[in-house]
Amino acid sequence: MSIVQGDGQLLNSTYPSSLRQGLATRLLARGVNLVFNEYVDSFPEEGTVGLVTRKGTEIPDADLVVRIPDPFTLHPAESRIIQISARGSSPNTAFVASLGSSTLSVSGFINVKPTLQLVDYPRIFAAGDVIEWPEQKQAAKVASHAGVVVRNVLNMLAGKSNALVNYQGSAELIIITNGRVSRTCCLLCDVLTHADRTVACAISRSWVGLRLATFGRGCSNREV
Ligand SMILES: Cc1cc2nc3c(=O)[nH]c(=O)nc-3n(C[C@H](O)[C@H](O)[C@H](O)COP(=O)(O)OP(=O)(O)OC[C@H]3O[C@@H](n4cnc5c(N)ncnc54)[C@H](O)[C@@H]3O)c2cc1C
Repeated sequence: MSIVQGDGQLLNSTYPSSLRQGLATRLLARGVNLVFNEYVDSFPEEGTVGLVTRKGTEIPDADLVVRIPDPFTLHPAESRIIQISARGSSPNTAFVASLGSSTLSVSGFINVKPTLQLVDYPRIFAAGDVIEWPEQKQAAKVASHAGVVVRNVLNMLAGKSNALVNYQGSAELIIITNGRVSRTCCLLCDVLTHADRTVACAISRSWVGLRLATFGRGCSNREV
């Protein structure tokens, strides 16, 4: 298996270098080929063997499957190496671009104030993956976003527009499986809201079951 990664380490800069390096070390130990600072620009047709990256690095044994309609029904014999494009999502926000140049960021996400109001439209809120915010796009963030939007909409309806609350960010959590029994875990919680604390407690309980509990701005490179 090969992983072609545009950055110089796995994951992204949200996560500490120690976690990213530890994950790479473990994957290398399992025989995974890591190709850093490289991009795959075009995907050969299904069935083609071999791949050349942007810089010309050859991965001759790449038996590439680009789109898998249902990964659970794909027979292992159909593809020795499976590559799934994982370059992140693109927001479908063109339809709000007409609200003005302040609405969308360079990458097409919706610019919001800490109150999750649109910058120039205080009566329009945005939440979820679509907002421009320095955090990982995760469903786990939705409850925190929604809590802010609901409180602020209710406050505005009650005539308390000067009492809006700010989104404070959420804890970041990632658990990466590596084979059947091995996991690398990271929980970053510089900013803990009440909701985050509830989630963190639940995670703590389950991690105790995994013989791992890491809190504060801490990460574990231990295999569990
Ligand atoms: C493979 C994968 C694994 C993930 N794993 C995790 C995980 O383990 N934990 C986690 O917390 N998060 C995970 N996520 C992220 C999570 O799925 C997203 O953060 C979450 O779905 C975002 O919710 P959302 O409602 O903001 O956007 P979405 O779920 O993307 O919903 C947006 C909806 O809007 C619809 N839509 C788009 N354009 C229009 C339009 N013009 N008009 C009407 N409707 C429109 C879309 O069809 C879609 O249904 C994962 C994501 C992926 C892709």
